[in-house]
Amino acid sequence: MDPGSLGVLSHVAGALWYKRRTLLATGGQTVVSAPLGGMIYLDGARCERCRLMLLRY
Ligand SMILES: [Zn+2]
Repeated sequence: MDPGSLGVLSHVAGALWYKRRTLLATGGQTVVSAPLGGMIYLDGARCERCRLMLLRY
């Protein structure tokens, strides 16, 4: 696993967790609030072979 950070640009809603995808993206649980600069970083690790990511929030 290679350590690093996943960067997501979100000016409005932050990062949300969904148990399942919905048409209008309702029902998500906020895991990281939207920061002032709009950039969210989730630290963790990834495997480039099987494309699995483990992220800390
Ligand atoms: Zn792997």
